[in-house]
This record gives sequence, structure tokens and C-alpha cells, in this order.
Amino acid sequence: MTEPRAFQLSDLPIRDNLRGQHPYGAPQKAVRIALNVNENTHPIPEAVARDIVESLAAAVLTVNRYPDREFTELRESLANYLGHGLSREQIWAANGSNEVLQQLFQAFGGPGRSVLGFPPTYSMYPIIASGTDTEWIPAQRDDAFGISPETVVRAIEQHKPDIVILCSPNNPTGTPLPIETIEAAYDATDGILIVDEAYAEFTPDHIPSALSLLPGRPRLVVSRTMSKAFAFAGARVGYLAADAAVTDALRLVRLPYHLSALTQAAAHAALRHTPELLANVDDIRAQKDRLLRELPALGYPAHPSWTNFVLFGGVENPNATFEALLEHDVIIRDVGIPNHLRVTAGTKHETTAFLAALESLGR
Ligand code: PMP
Repeated sequence: MTEPRAFQLSDLPIRDNLRGQHPYGAPQKAVRIALNVNENTHPIPEAVARDIVESLAAAVLTVNRYPDREFTELRESLANYLGHGLSREQIWAANGSNEVLQQLFQAFGGPGRSVLGFPPTYSMYPIIASGTDTEWIPAQRDDAFGISPETVVRAIEQHKPDIVILCSPNNPTGTPLPIETIEAAYDATDGILIVDEAYAEFTPDHIPSALSLLPGRPRLVVSRTMSKAFAFAGARVGYLAADAAVTDALRLVRLPYHLSALTQAAAHAALRHTPELLANVDDIRAQKDRLLRELPALGYPAHPSWTNFVLFGGVENPNATFEALLEHDVIIRDVGIPNHLRVTAGTKHETTAFLAALESLGR
């Protein structure tokens, strides 16, 4: 039993706009089948792990010195990975794309400024907004969680935000975002447009990335992560591509040496093995497609998804179903959308275990 605390958060002189706020709270539980935070559930291949360890071993020998503040090699390898004619000057990285987003909000948001987003969307956007004292403006999506060019332009004209953030495809719904919506948003705003492409590698191959829109658009930022397709969530590496001027803005807010020598070495080594690390993307897409087919067959309509997860409806009591699945050693996510739950596509075995557990609950 923990002792009752003498003081509570409310006893502290915390900033007014943080009073009553809740921290990011995806439960972390020791559960056999963990399909709750859209990780890549395939571990990285052992040969890749060994090569990363060798790079880490070399990097450890230098940790008496501060690391390369400009993470030059890593930016170079990220630029090569993204292609699209990008140079390393156009790349920035941080400890997860959450930190990339936070630095963007610090530089382009802040007190007296606002960020426009379209809930239901990634739950960290309003949290990063309050952490940086940026006003969060939630705008309405169309039917079926889509955002048309007209809808995005209307919201931007109404609110005139300093930042617009679009999640493409969207978490937690999986919904694709038309590239026309991104173009229209850019033309409608004077502010920064962030397109969060955390799940880009899972989208169908012929779909253009917002990276293709970067030339001539200095206020467009495309955020990416190694946490999902690259199976690198625990290493904490997110990055962005934008005009080089954007990275100049981020140098003003980042902490010096924010990417440790170990993080830089691990990520740089991992990128040498891009084909092996992305080898499971097709399998994951196949399991996602299987969820899209099999959930409706069990009576749970599923929303179209271009990600590694599926949002499904028809759940009478999401919390009760969440708890019942936990009893079967399966954890998924209650994202707060009435009658819905979200599940990550796991390995074939994990996806089978989830579907079997859900079926066994009956309806
Ligand atoms: N953006 C989206 C849409 C996400 O779903 C996530 C993680 N769930 C992130 C950003 C942050 O990922 P990370 O900080 O691990 O790069």
C-alpha cells in the first residue's frame, strides 16, 4: 500500500492552463497480446539487432563528449530513406515524433497563438498544445471521419489558426486524407501546416505522400516516425521533412544535444537495414485487411484504414469489452469514441488470438 500523499498537484502553483488537465494515459500492462498503442509487434531481426549493438558499442566509447548537435549522419540517412530529392538540411529529428511536434508548437505556437485540428485525432495534439500554452481549436470532420478540401478551408477561414495539424492517415480512425485536402489547407492558411504521417509506410503504395508537396511550400511540414513501420518505438526516433528554414526555427527551441549519441548511432545503424526492418509491413497490412474483413463478420463494422490498426464499432459497452478482453490476456484501446474500440494489427498469431477472444465474448 502506498502512503496517502501529504500534497496534491492542486496544492502547487502550476500554470493555470494545466490545472485539471490529464496526462497521456495509454495503459501499460504486462499482457500477452498487446495491441493497444499501434506498435509494430514484430521484433527486429536478430542480425539487425547485432549490427545496431556494434554501432552502440562504438558510440559508448565517445560518450565522454557531447554528441553531434546537428545529428548530421542521421539526417543524411533519413533524407536518403525519404527520397523525393530531399537533402539533409531539410530533415530534423528528435526523441519520437511527439518531441518533433512539441518543438514545432514551441516555435510556431505558444501563448496567444492557436492550433487547429480535427478530432477524433491523435490524442497528444491537445496535450502538446496545453504544454506549450497554445490554444487548441477542435474543428468538425465530415461524415465517416473524412476531411474534404471545402471542410478544411472553411475551418481555417473561420479560426485563422497559427498552426494546422492534419493526421494522414488519421489516428485513431485509420481514415485516409486526400492530398487535395492538404493542398487546399496550405493555400488557405498563412500559418504552418503540419501533416503527421506517422503511419505513412502502411498506406497503399501508389498513394502520394505529402512529401511530394514540399517544393515551393516553405510552411508545410511532414512529420514521420521510426516507431511504427520501423519497429523502433522503444528507441524514440521521430523526424520531419520541410524547407530548411523550418529547421532554423527549431534550433531556437530545441535543447542542445537533444538526440543522444546512442540514439543517433542506433537510428543510423537501423536505417542501414531499412529493407529488413520494413519487411513486415506487408504482413501487417495483410493482418489489418484481415481485421477489416473478419470484424464485420463478427458483427463489428470496421472503418476503412490505411494504417496498422482498425477502429471498429458495434460495441455496446467499450469499457466492458476492453476489460473482458484483458481477462483473455489481450489489450486493445478504448479511444473514447462511443460504441467503438481500436485494435492494432499484430502478428498473424496475435491477430488470431484477439479475434478468437472477441468472438468468445459473444454479442
Ligand atoms: N503521431 C501519431 C499519429 C501517432 O499515432 C503517434 C504514436 N502513437 C505519434 C505521432 C508519436 O509517435 P512517436 O513519438 O513514437 O514517434
